Amino acid sequence: MGLIVQKFGGTSVANAERIHRAAKRAIATKERGNQVVVVVSAMGDSTDDLIDLAKQVCSYGGCDTHPPKREMDQLLATGEQVTIALMAMAIHAQGHEAISFTGGQIGLVTDNAFSKARIQSINKQRIFDQLEHGKIVIIAGFQGITPEGDLTTLGRGGSNATLVAIGAVLSADVCENFTDVDGIYTADPRIVKNARKIERISYDEMLELSGLGASVLQTRAVEFAKKYNVPLHVRNSQNENEGTWIVAETPNMEHIVVSGAALKKDLIRVTIKSVPDQPGIAADIFGTIAEANIVVDDIIQNVMDDNTANISFTVEHGDLADIKPVVDKLVRDLGGRSAPNYQSDLAKVSVVGVGMRTHTGVAQRMFRALADAKVNIQNITTSEIKISCIISKDDAAKALQIVHEAFDLGAAIATAR
Ligand code: ADP
Ligand code: ASP
Ligand code: MG
Repeated sequence: MGLIVQKFGGTSVANAERIHRAAKRAIATKERGNQVVVVVSAMGDSTDDLIDLAKQVCSYGGCDTHPPKREMDQLLATGEQVTIALMAMAIHAQGHEAISFTGGQIGLVTDNAFSKARIQSINKQRIFDQLEHGKIVIIAGFQGITPEGDLTTLGRGGSNATLVAIGAVLSADVCENFTDVDGIYTADPRIVKNARKIERISYDEMLELSGLGASVLQTRAVEFAKKYNVPLHVRNSQNENEGTWIVAETPNMEHIVVSGAALKKDLIRVTIKSVPDQPGIAADIFGTIAEANIVVDDIIQNVMDDNTANISFTVEHGDLADIKPVVDKLVRDLGGRSAPNYQSDLAKVSVVGVGMRTHTGVAQRMFRALADAKVNIQNITTSEIKISCIISKDDAAKALQIVHEAFDLGAAIATAR
């Protein structure tokens, strides 16, 4: 007998019919002799709808406020709570036993970083007790509870983190991530029509792809899967096809130079001008930003003739409301001569592959393809397994298609030439 944790994303539980289909899948897995835990997301676009509702309330009658983060989590956590109850009802309606739990009910304790909380511990006993009673256990994704008892959420796409964390604490045989595409593709199949499904991809490549915009899996979930060696299978909830396995790297993966391409569509470049060019300034700036729990992407520093420097970095558009007060205050504290600048029409296109460690010429091929298509590169960053270019948002979809084409990703596996 195995233990399988399955997660159904928003589209896979968007209405009564789909909830019944997901329930049927969980029951079939149990009937094959497994213990089954099911993690669910909020139905369809309901998390977006809740965010929209909060915006409406906070801008009502001409006011212009940002919702307090604690209250936002209190609101967003309701989305998943709806689905767990409905899923348990669907399983019951199909003649099987199930019990649903919120994050708090299984002691999924997080820190108190509202909207981006990190999981600290999970009380697995309650889950095991119910599995031993023969029930399918349904757990709300995306949410946790602080030691003080406040509701938290784990960042957008956070049900992936719940899936992997539950899989890790229960030592599951497999974590199945059911979504609305057949697996991980060489690029977002909704943008690149000839993107190809990948059979197996390493944790490190998936980490890069997720961090660079492949929103099919949340980056933190992949980090967790890698750390605890959780076998992760991404597949389509609407068919029986084999999906993509995310696994530890194997030696033959190095033959593949580029495994995939990814796009971040909505970036903002923050520029702080004329800061003193002396040791400790960058540490102060980025230390303060990290304390505010904001993830910074690329950093560029230009030293001027007058012993000052301009420091630029990119952040996701969604972080603008959080970063603006932090940066405005930083600039005041540094005695800044000019106001910080926020440029918001940027995107980032990237290619990823473990084979880049041992093969050269990848950067040149990418830059040439973008140049031939008249896409201007505004900044370049690299790691040993990725190359990223900041470009204009207007060029985003075109650039993804171009780099996908440049490495023949749709046709076959791009090997060394
Ligand atoms: P769920 O609600 O099931 O969690 P998401 O919408 O969060 O689903 O993630 C699935 C979506 O991720 C796909 O519909 C696809 O458009 C997008 N996506 C982006 N990059 C990739 C990729 N490389 N492979 C597969 N899907 C991708
Ligand atoms: N419902 C949450 C979101 O839309 C969590 C998730 O679906 O993973 O981000
Ligand atoms: Mg998702």
